[in-house]
Amino acid sequence: MLVVSKEWSESRQTEVSNSHNGFIKKAMVIGGGIAGISASIDLGNGGYEVVLVEKLPSIGGRMLQLSETFPTLDCAQCTLTPKTVETGQHPLIKLLTYSEVDRVEGRAGDFRVKIRRKAAYVDWEKCTGCGLCQQKCPSKNPSEFDRAMGLEKAIYTLSPQAVPNKPVINPNHCRYFQEQKCKVCQKICPVGAIDYEQQDRFVEERVGAIVTAVGFDLIPVKSFGEYGYGEVPDVIDGLAFERLNSASGPTTGEIRRPSDGKIPKEVVFIQCTGSRDPERYMPYCSRVCCMYTGKHARLYKHKVHDGQAYIFYMDIRSTGKGYEEFIQQGMEEEGILYLRGRVSRIFRERDKVIVWGVDTLTGKKVEVSADMVVLATAMIPQKDTKELAGKLGIKADEYGFLTEAQRKLRPVETDIEGIFIAGCAQGPKDIADAVAHANAAASKVQGLFAKH
Ligand SMILES: Cc1cc2nc3c(=O)[nH]c(=O)nc-3n(C[C@H](O)[C@H](O)[C@H](O)COP(=O)(O)OP(=O)(O)OC[C@H]3O[C@@H](n4cnc5c(N)ncnc54)[C@H](O)[C@@H]3O)c2cc1C
Repeated sequence: MLVVSKEWSESRQTEVSNSHNGFIKKAMVIGGGIAGISASIDLGNGGYEVVLVEKLPSIGGRMLQLSETFPTLDCAQCTLTPKTVETGQHPLIKLLTYSEVDRVEGRAGDFRVKIRRKAAYVDWEKCTGCGLCQQKCPSKNPSEFDRAMGLEKAIYTLSPQAVPNKPVINPNHCRYFQEQKCKVCQKICPVGAIDYEQQDRFVEERVGAIVTAVGFDLIPVKSFGEYGYGEVPDVIDGLAFERLNSASGPTTGEIRRPSDGKIPKEVVFIQCTGSRDPERYMPYCSRVCCMYTGKHARLYKHKVHDGQAYIFYMDIRSTGKGYEEFIQQGMEEEGILYLRGRVSRIFRERDKVIVWGVDTLTGKKVEVSADMVVLATAMIPQKDTKELAGKLGIKADEYGFLTEAQRKLRPVETDIEGIFIAGCAQGPKDIADAVAHANAAASKVQGLFAKH
């Protein structure tokens, strides 16, 4: 059922003011990571209205989970927050978070997009973002955002700086939805914003162009049988390490291992876990792991001065500006030990994580009795990217990354006029490349609008 339409009638009004000879000069950006945010701000600053559709409750994407970023080691949130705030406050950007594209019809200049707005069970018009409901909610569950190392209330925002700063209720974790009792959030909310009866609803937007910036995921640690199928608690992935190192994370930024909270004195980092492995996992290079593993090892040493970091690697790919110097500094000044070779097995022995591998430079077997292991797992597309590509009528490659019209000369266009791609939705990228890709997509949209 297509419900409502305050939004629908608003969108019809703007469509009239933005349309020239029936060509609507308003854009939709799907995905609110750094790529989607960058494209939205560019388009908004160019004078065009933008509808930004994000499936999570707030924008920011994976960068929201990062602690510091290579190659400058500046705080990710200090770089990101001004951008999320600018997006949230931009007069020409309309945020539709906790929303997903349901259906797309039409063509360049007149796409009609039906969007599902998921039930938050909180009336965001009334909610002031005071946070009382989150403080008082008695239900605590493993937080997906903190890679299951921290706890999250049943009513939650993704981060303290969430944009928009509006909570949602996870019905799977909420005592009212599960057991018909509690209702603490409803009792405590000073403005009566809790609405357990709220349903998903649909809105329709008409836009002239679409930028798809739905980002990436990581291949789960439990895919790796040789590393214990995710059952060794002190074997974590790179995003989990980012959360451990974050002041807003589960250990308030102290490097403590998940099993017992001890400070790990020997940490093994393993690059190319699932990347460049055509026989078993992904054949492609995930492009950012060499750099973020070097970053992780350095950040670990900054916090645990007497700790030892080992990095197992195949090659070191540090091709960006200042990247090679960043890696060299880690090796020469911070005592990080690089071991060239693959790891064959990881297993638990008492409270240690034993890592077996081979140093291919010396030809010798290596065994490290570590306290924690960090896997740089392959970047993969978000699981619904292929389905979204189908709705948009654009192509995805065999892995599910979106396919550009031409690899070298048309890197942000697709085969469908008016639909563009940006960021890691097209393939693994670091932040600088994702932003440049998004800037290019936004400028292509503006070029298209300028022609009409
Ligand atoms: C462990 C780790 C550390 C890293 N460290 C660094 C670093 O130090 N420096 C650096 O330059 N890079 C780093 N990166 C890479 C960086 O995370 C990416 O370059 C960046 O996040 C890409 O941004 P994006 O917007 O393309 O994708 P994402 O950040 O993935 O954002 C995509 C957004 O789209 C949303 N979305 C997904 N599907 C849909 C849908 N169907 N509908 C609506 N919305 C949807 C997602 O919820 C998300 O908000 C690191 C990556 C990892 C894994």
